Amino acid sequence: MKDLLNHHPSAWPEIFAQMGVAKFHGRNAARWVFQRGAHSWTEMTDLPANLREQLQAEAPLGCAKLLTSSGAKDGAEKVLLELEDSATVEAVGMPGTAGRTVCLSTQVGCPVRCAFCASGLEGLGRNLSQGEILEQALWLRRAQGPFQRVVIMGMGEAGFNLDAVLGALDVLMDPEGFGMSARRITLSTVGPKGALPRIAEWGRPVTLALSLHAPDDALRHELVPGVAKRTIEETLTEVDELFAANGREYTVEYVLLAGVNDSPDQATALADLLFQRRCHVNLIPYNPVEETEFDRPSDYSMESFAKRLQDRGLSVTLRRSLGRQADAACGQLRRRQRPPSRPATEV
Ligand code: SAH
Repeated sequence: MKDLLNHHPSAWPEIFAQMGVAKFHGRNAARWVFQRGAHSWTEMTDLPANLREQLQAEAPLGCAKLLTSSGAKDGAEKVLLELEDSATVEAVGMPGTAGRTVCLSTQVGCPVRCAFCASGLEGLGRNLSQGEILEQALWLRRAQGPFQRVVIMGMGEAGFNLDAVLGALDVLMDPEGFGMSARRITLSTVGPKGALPRIAEWGRPVTLALSLHAPDDALRHELVPGVAKRTIEETLTEVDELFAANGREYTVEYVLLAGVNDSPDQATALADLLFQRRCHVNLIPYNPVEETEFDRPSDYSMESFAKRLQDRGLSVTLRRSLGRQADAACGQLRRRQRPPSRPATEV
């Protein structure tokens, strides 16, 4: 926890005081980092040189190194960061009509092992700290310029790392941090046990995105094995309660997989499930991952699925796949960089 980025900027003055440094330098340093984008003490030219040296030695400001940055024709750009223990993590910046969006990771790998997702192929490496989550935003801003929206939709399951994730979101929203409005932040989760009630208790009006992917428990458990003990009904009840707590309509995410979850009957079942709930449905065309055996449905089939939901009164978007050329599907850049080491017994 030595890294300052693991602490809310309002705590920096006190941390400085504990180092024998005047508190106002702590407030000034937070402004340098979060508002002016400084990445090192040497950049903070209005701090006395001897103080900068002391801080350099005693108070690290993040530890990530930029390994690669890959661009795409549509403007999505991915950065791969190497952390202190040489674990790697990725984050993506994407242009859009409402400004730039950055997509941040919450874990190295993922324990949920969704059948169609690259992030969980090797299971969970470890949780990211609050500072490591914030560093992704800081690096993306440095590499690509300011952003207007944040989506917690990179590698990892936020619901298993809520201390760090909610801490990072608090800094993103704080006027002494990035000063973002909660309305510009989306937190995506499969809704593991305890996560949604905890987010409701936290209460900030960020948009919750629930990764559902199936209209019935049997299929959801196959596609999202990490929540195989939970029912769809209890999960949806919890997001309804979250809506009651923070007043924000939620998003239901549904990756469309040909012949698996895209039939007309499944659309009807999904519509029945979501009828009169305060949600918006985000249909995501499957983005092919080499190691999995799914196919993306035809455009016709995806549009028919969307239409069936719309005809039942649901608000629906069929998400355009931004960043396909940048390998923007979860986990793919990291795998390209570091091919998985196979156990010796496996041939
Ligand atoms: N762990 C979080 C964040 C995952 S990434 C969650 O599950 O919500 C954001 C969305 O992209 C999730 O809905 C996830 O299921 C989806 N996704 C993962 N792999 C995908 C792929 N290959 N093609 C399309 N969407 C994918």
